[in-house]
Amino acid sequence: MLKSINPVTNEVVKTYKPHSEDGVEKIINSVDKTWHHWRSTSFHHRGQLMQNAASILRSKKEELALLMAQEMGKVRSEGIAEIEKCAWVCEYYAVNAESFLENEIIETQASKSYVSFQPLGTILAVMPWNFPFWQVFRFAAPTLMAGNTAVLKHASNVPGCAVAIEDIFREAGFPENIFRSLLIGSSMVEKVIKHKAIKAVSLTGSTPAGKSVAALAGAELKKCVLELGGSDPYLILKDADLEMAAKTCAAGRLLNAGQSCIGAKRFIVEESVYAHFLELFTNEMAEAQFGDPFEEESTMGPMAREDLRDELHQQVVDSVNKGAEVILGGEIPHRKGAFYPPTILENIKPGMPVYEEELFGPVASVIKVKDEQEAIHVANDTDFGLGAAVFTNNLKKGEHIAEMELEAGACFVNDFVKSDPRLPFGGIKTSGFGRELSVHGIKEFVNVKTVFVK
Ligand code: NAP
Repeated sequence: MLKSINPVTNEVVKTYKPHSEDGVEKIINSVDKTWHHWRSTSFHHRGQLMQNAASILRSKKEELALLMAQEMGKVRSEGIAEIEKCAWVCEYYAVNAESFLENEIIETQASKSYVSFQPLGTILAVMPWNFPFWQVFRFAAPTLMAGNTAVLKHASNVPGCAVAIEDIFREAGFPENIFRSLLIGSSMVEKVIKHKAIKAVSLTGSTPAGKSVAALAGAELKKCVLELGGSDPYLILKDADLEMAAKTCAAGRLLNAGQSCIGAKRFIVEESVYAHFLELFTNEMAEAQFGDPFEEESTMGPMAREDLRDELHQQVVDSVNKGAEVILGGEIPHRKGAFYPPTILENIKPGMPVYEEELFGPVASVIKVKDEQEAIHVANDTDFGLGAAVFTNNLKKGEHIAEMELEAGACFVNDFVKSDPRLPFGGIKTSGFGRELSVHGIKEFVNVKTVFVK
């Protein structure tokens, strides 16, 4: 059984019967069959259905936010913002897909030669629980608008969200088998990837899951897009507006109870402003009110599951045993639920889990460096390469560091890293490959076809 467990109470909210192997086979075959019709529908028609999906999302934002709160602990305000962002990405591709995928005429000796972008077929999405609607819609909106169909294997702890997403597409008027959720555990993913009708895979999740799915897709010669973990560095240079930086860094670290791939994770601060930044940052982090995600005063909910909270705490304990110092938090609160307090560690050295690994929760590592060059070196001294940010009042210098020096898929100056339907999103190094969103995202799952007429 797949279970929704409320991380505030640890109680089972609902159970879902998983699909059998036969059931999965039937769904994939139906989705494949539907693709042969869907691929030749017009952009106008697909766009109308996608606009319907956006309206349904907006009209259901309260109930969908409650569902997320119950399944993974997201606070209400963040849940509502997530659903609104899903509506935005639906509208964005409803409006722009056709122009993004317009034929590109290329002059050659032919009477006519051009590039056409044709859908591939049925795409498998393997998705995480942390933004259970956003991660799926940012994949589904461009994928369906490009003329593909899709099956979703969502994280096992958010089956209610998986079912709700399938229902939204159905209610929007999409044909029955355009988008289906497979209620399965990760051990079934191999079978799905091997299915003849599955043409490509998109995985958002941890780096180990990405390696495993990439190996399976590689063995089948099926394309994959991988959006994996991150340990985003935030550089605080000595000429930064420290108050703004401290506020922005704390907000970037605590969003979604710290469970964001592009969450601010390592704060690398020049030594001349280190003490002042740390004081301001500690005050900001200490202000967070953690509690029931549906209570007005809670700015932060619990983590999504108790086992994830315990893993995070172990990373903190192991780092402290290697010499890291706790400035704030660092202890499991005496209350029911998967809560973890905002935590700050300093005196961080290579070899500690907080230096080397992703910390997927509200824990910040603050690292003192002597100058800008050392800050850039420490920022890049990681296997990850998802996002990065630099805080400075010298915008020219900030832009140079962002564009030329930091090894990441998205580098922001004086703001925390965020995704936006208009901008490409993705990582380098072990944070994955391929891009979602923008014109780049919609071209991941298409056949870039050359047509040549003599
Ligand atoms: P996860 O444990 O890797 O799970 C993600 C998805 O992959 C789930 O559906 C999971 O299914 C499935 N999965 C796990 N291991 C698998 C395997 N060996 N083979 C096939 N499927 C497998 O990650 P998570 O805990 O849900 O999410 C947190 C991670 O996602 C963090 O590392 C975070 O940084 C990353 N993330 C990245 C982005 C990005 O855009 N780059 C965005 C959000 C999150 P089960 O639930 O059934 O195990």
